[in-house]
Amino acid sequence: MRWIHCLAVGTLSVALAACTTSPTGRSQLTLMSDDQLDQMGAQAFAQYQQDRTTVDGAPYRLAQCITREIVATLPAELQQENWQVRVFEDDSANAFALPGGYVGVNTGLLEITENQDQLAAVIGHEIGHVLAHHANERASTQSATNLGLSVLSSAAGLEGAGGEQVMAALGMGAQYGILLPFSRSHESEADTIGLKLMADAGFDPRASVALWQNMANAGGGQPPEWMSTHPSHGNRISGLESGMDEALQRYRQAGRAPNCGQP
Ligand SMILES: [Zn+2]
Repeated sequence: MRWIHCLAVGTLSVALAACTTSPTGRSQLTLMSDDQLDQMGAQAFAQYQQDRTTVDGAPYRLAQCITREIVATLPAELQQENWQVRVFEDDSANAFALPGGYVGVNTGLLEITENQDQLAAVIGHEIGHVLAHHANERASTQSATNLGLSVLSSAAGLEGAGGEQVMAALGMGAQYGILLPFSRSHESEADTIGLKLMADAGFDPRASVALWQNMANAGGGQPPEWMSTHPSHGNRISGLESGMDEALQRYRQAGRAPNCGQP
């Protein structure tokens, strides 16, 4: 159905509309410029670090090592994004990603990850959101449906209602207090991309299933970013399992065996 929507908006505003294709071959409406979104991602990430407590030491080094290993498998032009990861002091088992390559992992998530491969599943998933331009798609869809395309002209300055709307579209919320969920199709796609990424980097893709089971058992607090839009946890597991044969093949052919330490 997405391509119909994409086509309709394109007809209304030929000059602005752009239909792009995601890494899994899905048609997307992406109206914003990537440079603009990357800039907003950088700004939101800086603000988030000011507002929250970051954690240094072993947890940070672990997350950084895994991120580096995964990014190293990307095509050269994608490695040039400003990939950064930070660990935030927060009990909720959650993680997030912002356009431009900024990834946040909560300490609550580290508590339920049992090994580097499980954390690689999380970070691969978040990098998947970035690579698939999900924030652009979400902002574009919201702009086109709720606000009209005028929001695009005010988005650059992050000022006024338009700016707030776009910040919300990035998933940060107006007050950075809440991380808004992606849609189910975005979550599934990030799972698919993340599974390939972790396998290519030499992390055991089977750890993704164990991680989601840990997540389901953890519960409590606000729903984790990647579960809030998934009514059925089983669907997620079966989605991962359907991609597992290919992922295992990639894992065995990766020729990489990262040693980033233990959570
Ligand atoms: Zn997600």
